[in-house]
Amino acid sequence: MNCKSDITGDKTPFIRQMENRYDIYARLGISKEVFELGERVEEALKDWFKRIDETAEYNQLRVVEAMHECRVGEAALLGTTGYGYNDIGRDTLEAVYARIFHTEDALVRPQISCGTQALHLCLLANLRPGDELLSISGKPYDTLEEVIGIRPAPGSLAEYKISYAQVELREDGGFDFEGIRNKVNERTRLVAIQRSKGYADRPTLSVEQIGEAARFVHDLNPKIKVMVDNCYGEFVERIEPTEVGADIVVGSLIKNPGGGLAPEGGYIAGDKESVENAAYLLTSPGLGKEVGASLGVLRSLYQGLFLSPTVTASALKAAIFAANIYEGLGYGVRPDSREERYDIIQAVTLKSPEALTAFCRGIQAASPIDSYVTPEPWAMPGYDSDVIMAAGNFISGSSIELSADGPLREPYTVFFQGGLTYPHARYGILNSLQFMVNEGLVRL
Ligand SMILES: *Cc1c(COP(=O)(O)O)cnc(C)c1O
Repeated sequence: MNCKSDITGDKTPFIRQMENRYDIYARLGISKEVFELGERVEEALKDWFKRIDETAEYNQLRVVEAMHECRVGEAALLGTTGYGYNDIGRDTLEAVYARIFHTEDALVRPQISCGTQALHLCLLANLRPGDELLSISGKPYDTLEEVIGIRPAPGSLAEYKISYAQVELREDGGFDFEGIRNKVNERTRLVAIQRSKGYADRPTLSVEQIGEAARFVHDLNPKIKVMVDNCYGEFVERIEPTEVGADIVVGSLIKNPGGGLAPEGGYIAGDKESVENAAYLLTSPGLGKEVGASLGVLRSLYQGLFLSPTVTASALKAAIFAANIYEGLGYGVRPDSREERYDIIQAVTLKSPEALTAFCRGIQAASPIDSYVTPEPWAMPGYDSDVIMAAGNFISGSSIELSADGPLREPYTVFFQGGLTYPHARYGILNSLQFMVNEGLVRL
């Protein structure tokens, strides 16, 4: 322990002077120029931030309304052990999720260890040998390539004789309806849509667009299930894909809906049959949702869900603030400084390995945890170039917390997301710029 009190121990009473806002930034290493740039940029975003706060307010009340309707009581915050029979807290939480996403049922479990597992679970549970999975938003998220078997992997859907087809998004980022009509066939059992762009170079899909595509697919064949990979999209808008035509939404609890408090977990919300199928695969045929001890995590899952609308709003403001800072300095940003937002990810093209490294080090140094650690690029499995990552998180790997990463290759794009609170994310972004300024990579 090397953090000693700064009180000296003599008997004179300690009086701290009232400081200006800038004084604390100065102590944290932010120069006056960087601070003032932040002030100017934020001033121009006031109206936009107000709209985001209104969406957060709306979604906050939706969450509370669902908790009232499901009569969440203190006993629901406790947990079970062993088989987890009659886990009232778990069952009630699943009812709350089903209310919020407007679905018949939901599976919300700590036994689902990440978003990829939730997606795999939903796909394998709802497809049978001979069926075809059709992605209509182009190439899916990286980790799903092995799930599907696009890259051969033991246990992939391909090994279970489930085939895969894909329709690219149009040049303008919209759905290719003609292409979808051509690819849907009598074996198509499930259509997958990825809401967020993830790390792909395309716009994120709005819930309205997703609804239109879901209804189009159902017009072709009402039996086809439309599943949406909802990662990074929850509570960004006032509606969710299952409220406009999609059958199932799937996501991770260490992203938006966990509100930064959920220590792990994933969710699947959808029609009764699809959710039941997923439960039978997660536990076992015959047991389904009846088993699965929640141990001690329920309180965090409820409290995280409760905080999620405002945490998501913080992350959204952070992404917009970053886009406006960096676009103003001449860097390519995606989405751009004015674009409507449908997820919390911000890409900034930094054009040099030095700038990418400095950016990530600035984010890391601003983190509440591991601020003294210096991120280095490393050869991550599954990537063809070194990757640098900044994440000083309370929950390991949580990307609703302020985090940044990027592969060290042309054009040196950093993907930035999260921020449990806007004041912290704002400081993190200013610090990323400060590190670039200190290295002489940017002149203000
Ligand atoms: C994060 C993410 C996933 C996978 O989630 P993990 O929790 O990392 O396994 C899938 N799809 C999208 C769009 C994501 O952002």
